[in-house]
Amino acid sequence: MRNLVAVVLILTFNLSAAAQAAFTGFTAASTQTERDWETKFRAIPSPDNQREYMRRLSARPHHVGSAYDKDNAQWILARFKEWGLDAHIETFDVLFPTPKIRILEMIEPTKFAAKLDEPAIAIDPTSNQKSEQLPTYNAYSIDGDVTAPLVFVNYGLPKDYEDLDRLGISVKGAIVIAKYGNSWRGIKPKVAAEHGAIGCLIYSDPADDGYFVDDVFPQGPMRNPNGVQRGSVMDFPSSNPGDPLTPGIGATPGAKRLTIKEAQSISKIPVLPISYGDAQPLLAALKGPMAPESWRGALAIPYHVGPGPAKVHLKLEFNWDLKPVNDIIAKIPGSTEPDQWIVRGNHHDAWVNGAEDPISGQMALLEEARAFGELLKQGWKPRRTIIYCAWDGEEPMLLGSTEWAEAHADELRQHAAVYINTDGNGRGYLGMGGSHSLEHLMNEVARDIEDPESKVSVWKREQLHEIREAKSADDRQELRSRADLRMDPLGSGTDYTAFLDHLGIASLNLEYSGEDAGGIYHSIYDDFYWYTHFSDTTFVYGRALSQTVGTTVMRLADAEVLPFEFTDLADTVQKYTKELEKLLKDKQDEISERNRELDEGLFRATLDPRRPTVAPPREDVPPFLNFAPMHNAADALTRAAQRYDKTLANAQAHPPNSATLQSLNEQLIQSERRFTDDAGLPRRPWYKHLLYGPGVYTGYAPKTVPGVREAIEQKRYTEADQEIVRVAKAIQDEAALVNAAAEQLEKAGQ
Ligand SMILES: [Zn+2]
Repeated sequence: MRNLVAVVLILTFNLSAAAQAAFTGFTAASTQTERDWETKFRAIPSPDNQREYMRRLSARPHHVGSAYDKDNAQWILARFKEWGLDAHIETFDVLFPTPKIRILEMIEPTKFAAKLDEPAIAIDPTSNQKSEQLPTYNAYSIDGDVTAPLVFVNYGLPKDYEDLDRLGISVKGAIVIAKYGNSWRGIKPKVAAEHGAIGCLIYSDPADDGYFVDDVFPQGPMRNPNGVQRGSVMDFPSSNPGDPLTPGIGATPGAKRLTIKEAQSISKIPVLPISYGDAQPLLAALKGPMAPESWRGALAIPYHVGPGPAKVHLKLEFNWDLKPVNDIIAKIPGSTEPDQWIVRGNHHDAWVNGAEDPISGQMALLEEARAFGELLKQGWKPRRTIIYCAWDGEEPMLLGSTEWAEAHADELRQHAAVYINTDGNGRGYLGMGGSHSLEHLMNEVARDIEDPESKVSVWKREQLHEIREAKSADDRQELRSRADLRMDPLGSGTDYTAFLDHLGIASLNLEYSGEDAGGIYHSIYDDFYWYTHFSDTTFVYGRALSQTVGTTVMRLADAEVLPFEFTDLADTVQKYTKELEKLLKDKQDEISERNRELDEGLFRATLDPRRPTVAPPREDVPPFLNFAPMHNAADALTRAAQRYDKTLANAQAHPPNSATLQSLNEQLIQSERRFTDDAGLPRRPWYKHLLYGPGVYTGYAPKTVPGVREAIEQKRYTEADQEIVRVAKAIQDEAALVNAAAEQLEKAGQ
């Protein structure tokens, strides 16, 4: 009882303290008005409605081109209209391959035919919709018919091939079998092909998302022996996401299309995903050296590497058809600055029924839209235009969002202030990723959202979660003392990619997760039954997601001054600069040490003749690079950001007139664009952002300052020096913009 009283007192104090602080970009008076509207907004999203949206949208398979995908698009359009939004569907025609022939068999030393099938489960009512389910496959695998010895390659990453070199094993002319995980799946066939493999299998090991983690479906949430992860293997990190036939332009009816042969992003070798039920006999038939300990999974077999004696035959053929993608676009016009846009999206297509991916995010988006409809009726007038987007074709590789962003590129570059994405939701902690000029805003919002389980703010819960997971005392110290939690940089793998990486629009990606482990990703078992038994079963985190994203949208749409903040950004740029220096130093040390061990004869002397290994090659120690331009630029940005912060704080007492506000906001909208260069990243010009990008060898996982970082990782040191200069110039341009914005505010305040 005493504890309860204490909690109540603390909450009251925090609330009244918060009530005094103005939101970034608002005056004290407009903060109060905004707070009232936001409070009304957050009371509206309903868990029960979200449950019904999920039941409806995931009732049948709804992949690109399917009947129910189109039906869902019409249904979403009708809801937006019913809630009073100005909505329409935009359709693009994109290349979307579906399987015609899939054969995988072992022909030596014993015979085995892979089932390649996910059976219906009696207790799961949508798992038996066979005629509408896409078979298990990897989209944008090339057609192929190959027979070769099998080699196990761990996760199939570049480092794994270095380990294979040490074991004296080549995959040239072989078919590789890789585990799912630790990289985006398309990296595995890409790296295998670079090493001369002619085919690629990817399986889900039970150590990663099967019985090693928890009970398997339907007794538990994890992957059962037949579950298969479908998914795209389009090589988007080295070329571009979206329709492979229309890179850089919208896939409209009259668009000039490449031939399939000319398309850069289709895989170089045939690739097929399989279950651990199908993988086990293949892996069990391998001989050759034992796999390194860290490679081994949770199957009850000794993990050998091969090659052979297992020999497999893989035959794949696809229907290479154009299919429509239907994006639903809904608008709420802005009252004061209608030419400044806040864009919010989540996809609606799935691999199969897709309750978690993507409907758990789509249902939250729909409740936000419904709530905004209610607020508009009550007299809410957002200052800026809000655009809600339900994307189609995300699963094959961000088709709907990329084509829309490419088709509307000029308008978006001019008008779009921010893009906010979600792509599914679960239970647990708030995950915040995005442009660091929005880090402060997201921290501000997260303090106002209540966690449904612990009842503390989602900000507090995430802070304590990060303290619990922190690796060092320094990290814990920062988590306790830094005003804002750090936001993750964005890589790729979902619909913000074209907005952020191609157009340079400040972006956010949000979700709740961490207490929702599952093994149904991209299988027929990601459905209403699974979600309502094992994930956010009461839909309270669905409501929390609506509240989080909707509040962010409102704050951005209503603020007099767009709530960008640059000291967190400058701090992040400083941090990245130091990380890059450390990366180079670590490489130098590592290579020096290895060369020394070669000189000492360490590898020869410690060789176990019964388990022979090959000594690593001698390498040149990386040269020193000149990071001075980046340090100077980061310092310039830090000074500009501090100046802007100070003038913005003063402006809260003396708000500028509407002409100044408009020109200031137009300037702020361009701030993220300063980090783009039209020439793009080296060898992948579609990616124009110099601060964030997907890794060429990681895919989804981000590479910050990718031009410099990847040049160091890939040992192109002259290029690294050139890229440092290019990034430094972009940071200086950003500092100049922030200074100019501060000057506008200072003049207005005089
Ligand atoms: Zn998704």
